[in-house]
Amino acid sequence: MIDRDWIGERLSIGFQPDDLRRLLLSDDGEAEVIYEAAREIRDGIFGRKAFIRAVVEFANTCRCSCLYCGMRAENEKIVRFTLEPDEIVDIAGRARENGIRTFFLQAAESEEYSADWLGDVIRRISDKGMMVLLCVGVHRESDLDLWYEAGARKFILKHETADAELFSEMKPGFTLEERIRWLRTLRAHGYHIGSGPLLGLPGQTVDTLVDDLLLMKELEVDMSSVAVFLPAEGTPLEDHPVGDVDLGLRFVAAMRLFLRDTLIPATSTFERLREDGQLKCFHAGANVITVNMTPARLRDDYELYSERFYVGLEHARRTIRRAGLEETTESELLGKE
Ligand code: SF4
Repeated sequence: MIDRDWIGERLSIGFQPDDLRRLLLSDDGEAEVIYEAAREIRDGIFGRKAFIRAVVEFANTCRCSCLYCGMRAENEKIVRFTLEPDEIVDIAGRARENGIRTFFLQAAESEEYSADWLGDVIRRISDKGMMVLLCVGVHRESDLDLWYEAGARKFILKHETADAELFSEMKPGFTLEERIRWLRTLRAHGYHIGSGPLLGLPGQTVDTLVDDLLLMKELEVDMSSVAVFLPAEGTPLEDHPVGDVDLGLRFVAAMRLFLRDTLIPATSTFERLREDGQLKCFHAGANVITVNMTPARLRDDYELYSERFYVGLEHARRTIRRAGLEETTESELLGKE
């Protein structure tokens, strides 16, 4: 049985794969003990604090064909767009006026914009005194230096699954090995890196999820996250069932206990699938929430999954408060202010 002594012992000697499996397979009573321990680890490292970052999804043209994603190249039902730089920078300005200091530029693996184009956008946002985080897929290695010089310091590249066979099945034409190499390349170019799985993919097992945790540990990620699978219309997985939210919450807590000092977001898929899902993520050890500032007119065309839940600023602030946490900025949380 998992109790505080069991967790305390693993925290001092280290969690083995079997221990991680037990965390993920814990019953509801054990899960409460795990969440409490995860909160204590978070609070001990970061204090009882969380921060809000703002995301704008600025381009949705994609060269990839991920089976689970509504923006896959084959999906002709969505209108493809790239936002104008001025609009992106204006949105960042609004985020800043609202006290947000981390700006997250997200796009599909688009070839619709050049490295210089994105570099200029990064520079303009960075000049506002904001931390710039990128999640734009794989590009040329030289682009990484250009964007770093422009002010970007963080890069998220989800590995989606640590099962190499499943990875290539879900992302046709790509290998897990390349993905891992690219994460290491990002690190070598000076970026703080983030990764994580999509929970609920067909054929994924608890052992695969344990491997996801081990991979993130090995990569020494700075940011770790989990999204729960939700089907997107018009994709090969449109009829696949949604992922297991309870398993997702256990995964959040396992990340906190095993990886300890990573930034862990309460992702919107939890809220979409369960009332107060993001609050539950904070109870399981999360410390970040992302407000979506993609213009409303374009949101239906950025369909990672159907009927997304869009996190607004009020919801984010209320969720942090209800979790008993104090809102702060990323720099302050990391002790850089
Ligand atoms: S998950 Fe990303 S890379 Fe894959 S199809 Fe969707 S936008 Fe493109």
